[in-house]
Amino acid sequence: MSINLLDLDAAQLAGFFAEIGEKPFRAKQLLRWMHQFGEADFSKMSDLAKPLREKLSARARIEAPSVISDNAAEDGTRKWLVDVGNGNAVESVFIPETNRGTLCVSSQAGCALDCKFCSTGKQGFNRNLTVAEIIGQLWIANKALGAVPKGDRVVSNVVMMGMGEPLANFDNVVAAMRLMLDDNAYGLSRRRVTLSTSGIVPAMDRLRDACPVALAVSLHASNDALRDALVPINRKYPLSELMAACLRYLDRAPRDFLTFEYVMLDGVNDGAGHARELIALVRDVPCKFNLIPFNPFPGSGFKRSSRDDIRRFADILIAAGLVVTTRKTRGDDIDAACGQLAGKVEDRTRRTRRVVEIQPC
Ligand code: SAH
Ligand code: SF4
Repeated sequence: MSINLLDLDAAQLAGFFAEIGEKPFRAKQLLRWMHQFGEADFSKMSDLAKPLREKLSARARIEAPSVISDNAAEDGTRKWLVDVGNGNAVESVFIPETNRGTLCVSSQAGCALDCKFCSTGKQGFNRNLTVAEIIGQLWIANKALGAVPKGDRVVSNVVMMGMGEPLANFDNVVAAMRLMLDDNAYGLSRRRVTLSTSGIVPAMDRLRDACPVALAVSLHASNDALRDALVPINRKYPLSELMAACLRYLDRAPRDFLTFEYVMLDGVNDGAGHARELIALVRDVPCKFNLIPFNPFPGSGFKRSSRDDIRRFADILIAAGLVVTTRKTRGDDIDAACGQLAGKVEDRTRRTRRVVEIQPC
């Protein structure tokens, strides 16, 4: 089986070129062809010598995952259902705004972490996405949005907030993010790539050393008892350890704050007491809060907090000097979502009201 070059980051591609007796700058040319011009056909790479093109065709291929469906919402949000084999699919969602375009990228088919309010968690874990399947989501978006071959920067921001826990697929996610940052590939700054994690503490430390992009942490609870119940990984890495890891991460983060995501669950975590507990919890951590109105799904057992309750909760945090944003609903008419995404292909007709993440960068 030939090697899929979309699976390799710049260093790995240079290694592959060394193995086949080619110079490192050729690997850079190939990166540009693949990622900036969206070219998958070696024979069209006009500045590569013919013998090299033939050598590549014999040993390698450039294969992005295929798209099952491509939907555009009235507000410009666009959603692709991406085939990852065996009847499984993941979603990526593009959210255009005046000054930026954000792509929400999936990292796993399913998720093992079983957060109680998450439909991806309810589906269980299927498998880690490959580098080609992760970076392929940018490839697909750039093509569909007409960014290639002109090299336009339509996707200006990436949030790793789709399906799956990115830090549980560490190596592939880091390789894909390195491509996002590479000047010969997507050339995004570290501030414009945000990884969202439920709080796998050792992996947060590894990320800080390997590829410190902007970080969002899914907090969702103000004390350990509540977080143990909602986000089971908390039983392994409780809040004190999580807060310490956040502070360590901030040493190397591309911004001087991180984002705490907080899903608003009616009567569960949205009271004034929870808000006060949160203020004490994050006292030492430079942060911003992103409140996410819960997206209901059948059988979840939770309800979305009312608009008034969300406003009251936000006001308490704001009065304590915290910066708080509430997530906007986008792309409702195409079921566009991060955090509540399609698993099996046959699930894709499900109609629930969903919300997509927009990280201010
Ligand atoms: N696994 C990572 C990233 C993917 S989920 C994480 O948990 O951070 C992206 C965000 O959507 C997370 O904050 C997640 O907790 C949230 N989310 C999951 N299910 C949701 C739902 N039903 N409604 C609203 N937000 C949800
Ligand atoms: Fe996994 Fe994130 Fe869903 Fe939790 S919220 S189950 S970590 S995808």
